[in-house]
Formats: sequence, structure tokens, C-alpha cells
Amino acid sequence: MSISYVSTRGKAPRLGFTETTLAGLARDGGLYVPETLPPLPDIVRKPYAETAFRIMAPFVGDDIPAEDLKNIIDASYKTFTHPDVAPLRQLDDNFYLLELFHGPTLAFKDIALQFLGNLFDYILARKHQRVTIVGATSGDTGSAAIEAFKGKQNADIFILHPKGRVSEVQRRQMTTVDSGNVFNIAVEGSFDDCQNIVKALFNDEKFRDEMSLSAVNSINWARILAQVVYYARATAQFVKPVSFCVPTGNFGNVYAGHVARGMGAPIEKLIVASNRNDILYRFFQTGEMKIQPVAPSLSPSMDIQISSNFERLLFELQNRDGDATAKIMESFRETGEFKAAPAIMAQLKTGFTGGKLNDAATLAAIGATHRKYGVTVDPHTAVGVGVAEAWRRNNPQAAIIALATAHPAKFPDAVQQATGTAPDLPPSLAGLHGRAEKCDTLPADAAAVQAYLRERARK
Ligand SMILES: *Cc1c(COP(=O)(O)O)cnc(C)c1O
Repeated sequence: MSISYVSTRGKAPRLGFTETTLAGLARDGGLYVPETLPPLPDIVRKPYAETAFRIMAPFVGDDIPAEDLKNIIDASYKTFTHPDVAPLRQLDDNFYLLELFHGPTLAFKDIALQFLGNLFDYILARKHQRVTIVGATSGDTGSAAIEAFKGKQNADIFILHPKGRVSEVQRRQMTTVDSGNVFNIAVEGSFDDCQNIVKALFNDEKFRDEMSLSAVNSINWARILAQVVYYARATAQFVKPVSFCVPTGNFGNVYAGHVARGMGAPIEKLIVASNRNDILYRFFQTGEMKIQPVAPSLSPSMDIQISSNFERLLFELQNRDGDATAKIMESFRETGEFKAAPAIMAQLKTGFTGGKLNDAATLAAIGATHRKYGVTVDPHTAVGVGVAEAWRRNNPQAAIIALATAHPAKFPDAVQQATGTAPDLPPSLAGLHGRAEKCDTLPADAAAVQAYLRERARK
């Protein structure tokens, strides 16, 4: 038996695990969530991959034989350079960092995407299917997706980035991957142009079917599931409940913590940490979710105006009423605003709270963490650490874990500015500058990108 998955908008068919994984977004525009949550299994003092298997197995059920699921998980976490995959590092009394950046691209997205790449390839092989993955990136997600799908038999991956507008390290992390099924496209335009092209490709139904287009964005349930593991595993190392502080963009990471808590992991508060793009912070303050233009910050992977995964929480807050959720999302799309009833806010605040750091405070947090604890953090992690420090002042007895979502070497300029020293380059980055790049430049034109894909994708 597998757990069934239902759409947050109530109209799409219920699906099992593998179909939910392949679908990504539900047909009614909603997001898939499990119908029920299994209880947390015994995971005390188990290695990471074993923990992941125990937690994921009930969500997968009969859809994948246990041995195969084990192999998929083992392969996914073998690529991590730390034996513990996601080690916990103590900073102070009751204060910890959970390091999620030991994967191939040095950002936490590897934890979910390494698993998703292997899972997709397995499911597709069994169904004798092939997909063409297309995505737009402003930096980090593209390289994590490319690392996850390089060399896969049943998927080709095309990643669009705005030409000249991603950092050299970010570009090289994508373009130096030498694999026949990986295609980098530098678009002569902005990140918005890239996203609009990708949308146009997916909206062209004939092209979508012809190429079996697929996306692996952060709303995919399998990505959330992979992230539940490190929350539950971290809590199992404590004798009392802990809180987490999570640097947030799409609300995917923090939502995974909420799922872990729903399964019984002893998590007290989930603290949502925002940069200057603070739609969630303002929501927790006022009960009003209101879109504002995105402004660039030192933590670019959190520069987001709509936190897509929030819809999953909203569905719960509406007592899992798909029609009610669809109505709210529809009106939010039209007006850019949503106001939560006081009762809903009260319920929400029992489990969540929010904090924010602007760029100056982010630099100050990198500097202070370096001075006080001798630990160098990247700007995303610093937003979490800074918000966590403020929370600790009001909750001195409580244990708190801040999530470290990227390796500091990915953001050398901010680190140098804040600490006076450039971060050490890990081996995977050190070799980057010597390698040949593979990338094609195209105009910001959907038809040109379509022709490019048609010529190159294996069908
Ligand atoms: C994607 C990302 C985030 C935000 O995670 P969400 O799941 O989108 O909330 C934070 N930090 C880094 C380094 C990221 O790459």
C-alpha cells in the first residue's frame, strides 16, 4: 500500500507516489500532499541513508520495491563529501548549525535533487519513458539540477540562464559539466525572460507532449520528502524538543520541517527567516500576504516574491478544503493580496514565527558569527543565524538549530567583505577554472529555444 496524494485544489485525481513524482504540479494547478502522515519510525543513531530509507519507505509504499528504494537513496547520498551527509555543528550552548551544503554543488538543494535525479531515472526506465527537463535559473538551482541529471539514461536537461548575469562560479558550475545529456543555454536577456520562455514552452501543449517536457522545481513532493529526513534526524540527537531557524525563499525547506513535526519529530517552533524580500515576515506580523517587487539581495536564492510551497500549509489551515484553497489562490493571483482570518493566524503562530535581516544586517551576522564562534557562513545561512540570535535572546533556555544552506565559498565577495578573509575553496570549486565550458547563446525568443531543443533532445 502506498499513501495516496491529493491536490491542494481538490480537482486533480488522487495519485500514488511515482505518479505524484512525475506529475510535479497537479493538473488543477495545485500541489500534491499526502492524504495522511505516517508516524516517525525509529531513527536513533542510524546512518543518514538508513534514516532516509526508514522515513521515506511508508510514503513510497508498494510503488518501489524496498531494495530498489534503498539503492536509489544510497546512490544519492554517496556523492556527499561528509560521511554524516548533514552534520550538526555546535556554535554555543543550545545553539547549532545543521550543515546541508556537503553535496556536489555545495548548496542544500543537492539533498533533494540528487535523490530526485536517481528517482526519476529509475521510474522512467521501468515505464520505458524518457523526459526532457527544462528549467530557468538565476544561479544555484540550475547547477544542482544539472549535477542531479547528468549522465542519466532517460532524461535530457536544458537549463536557461541570463547571459552575463550569473556569477562566474555559478556559470562554471553549470557549463563545465561534461555530459552528453546536459545543455546550457545563455539567453540574451534577463532571468524573467528565461522564465517566460520556459513558461511558453510548457504552455505549448503540442510541443510539451512531443518532447515529454518535465520540470523539477521546488514544488515536487519528492523534493520535500527528501528534506524531511534531516529535520527528523537532527531532532533524534537531542533529549528535548528543538526549534529550527530556516532561511526561506519558496517555503519548501521550512514546509519539510512542518511535515517532520506532523510525523512526530519533537520540533517546537519553525522560524521563517527572510532577507529584504520579506513577504512571509510581513505576513507573520500582519496576517496580510501582499506581493511587492523583488529586490536583489546578498542572498539571491531567497529573492522570491511568491513562496509557492506556502499553498501546502494554506490547504491545511483551510482544513484540507481544496475548493476553499483554490478560491484563495485564485484571488491572490488576481489581486496580489491575501488576508488570513485572526483564528487562522493564531493557529499558525503556535508552530511558526518569522524574522528578517536586510543586507547590512546579513554582513554583520557573517562577521559576528566569525568572531564569536570561529565559523564562516554564507549570506543565506547568515540570515538564518542572525534571526536565530535574536530569537535566542528571548528564549535563552531553548535549543535552536539554524540551517546552513550554502557553503561560504559560493559567495566569496560577501564573506570577504564581512570578515576580511576570503573563504577556503573546497576541491570541487578549486578545479573549476581549468575546465572547458559548454554553453550555447540564444536570443530571448521561445521559438529559437524550441528549435534548439528539438534538434538535441533524445526522443
Ligand atoms: C533555495 C535556497 C534557499 C531557500 O530555500 P526554499 O526551500 O526555497 O525556501 C535558501 N538558501 C539557499 C542557499 C538556497 O539555494
